[in-house]
Amino acid sequence: MGRIAKYYREYGVRIVRGFMQYVWDDQGRRYVDCNTNHGVVFLGHANPKIAETVKRQLEEVWAVPLNFSTPARERFIEEFSKLLPAKFGVVFLQNTGTEAVEVAIKIAKKVTKRPTIVAFTNSFHGRTMGSLSITWNEKYRKAFEPLYPHVRFGKFNVAAEVDKVVGEDTCCVVVEPIQGEGGVNPATPEFLKALREETQRKGALLIIDEVQTGFGRTGAVWAFQKYGVEPDIFTAGKPVAGGLPIGLAVAKEEFGDVFEPGEHGSTFAGNAVVMAAAAAASRLLREEDVPAKAERAGAELAKALAETGSRLAVRVKGMGLMLGLELRVKADQFIQPLLDSGVMALTAGVNTLRFLPPYMISKEDVEVVHGAVSEVLKKAEAP
Ligand code: PMP
Repeated sequence: MGRIAKYYREYGVRIVRGFMQYVWDDQGRRYVDCNTNHGVVFLGHANPKIAETVKRQLEEVWAVPLNFSTPARERFIEEFSKLLPAKFGVVFLQNTGTEAVEVAIKIAKKVTKRPTIVAFTNSFHGRTMGSLSITWNEKYRKAFEPLYPHVRFGKFNVAAEVDKVVGEDTCCVVVEPIQGEGGVNPATPEFLKALREETQRKGALLIIDEVQTGFGRTGAVWAFQKYGVEPDIFTAGKPVAGGLPIGLAVAKEEFGDVFEPGEHGSTFAGNAVVMAAAAAASRLLREEDVPAKAERAGAELAKALAETGSRLAVRVKGMGLMLGLELRVKADQFIQPLLDSGVMALTAGVNTLRFLPPYMISKEDVEVVHGAVSEVLKKAEAP
């Protein structure tokens, strides 16, 4: 029998069921899911409103290439458009976050005819060769060099150096509004504004990577809306199809016809089952005012995380339901103990515990998380 290639730590937990903010293992134990497959299941596991639509679509048609229209794709663009700020009209469909970043870079290269991509310290944009080239962490990059050569890294959140790092050779600047993998680090408003101004001045495109922040998690549909800074292109992924694979780049109208037929493509892009799920997810997001709920629940969770009473805790970072608890020690030692206490969480950077729960996380769930985090930190404090 074959085996799945192993390049992940395994926790010895076998998940057999998920519903909304919970998953259950094969022993019947329930977990509050603050991992959500790295932020994918923001709208809840097997959310009935999405599941019903997907079930119906499974009886109709699954895979149709972009050369043919489908009702599922039409419903998707109708619902998704209602979530787009004015001027953003063109959606490039992909299957993952990293591909969303790749297509955004391709647009910028074709439009500007320039080589250099600017990214920042502690960035994460994916693991294919283009997106990996603009990902900061040495551990992810080293073994695969040489990567795309024309990359310049600036210092994240240092607005004063932006004019030096963006040049006449720059096709685009790629930035996360809140760095996810890099430590749950929100950009400062001054930094994003400086990037917007400098890219405009130098004729480069500003690409905001919303793969982790986007689709309601931070309390706005798109995090850049909280900053009042508008990119030329933004990316999305993770939760947009409720848990099925999707990635997309959304561009201003003027970039809509940038590719000739044959210059770009992706076999699975626009898959009818995924489109049906994404249409239902987009509708749910709007009808249930998910961003507002994420903002409220996020405030409760942030308060709870700030009150662990542990001297190992430094501060709470993030927005809405994208939260990090920065510690004085390495964070990965707490993932297993938290699992033992019924909470799934993630790390970010080295010292940050990361919480990406579904929007329907309740007051009781927040108490469970608070109890578990307080307890595991307390145990680690013991001499
Ligand atoms: N961009 C950001 C900001 C991300 O957080 C991630 C995934 N963690 C990606 C891109 C890559 O997404 P995917 O794993 O779906 O390729």
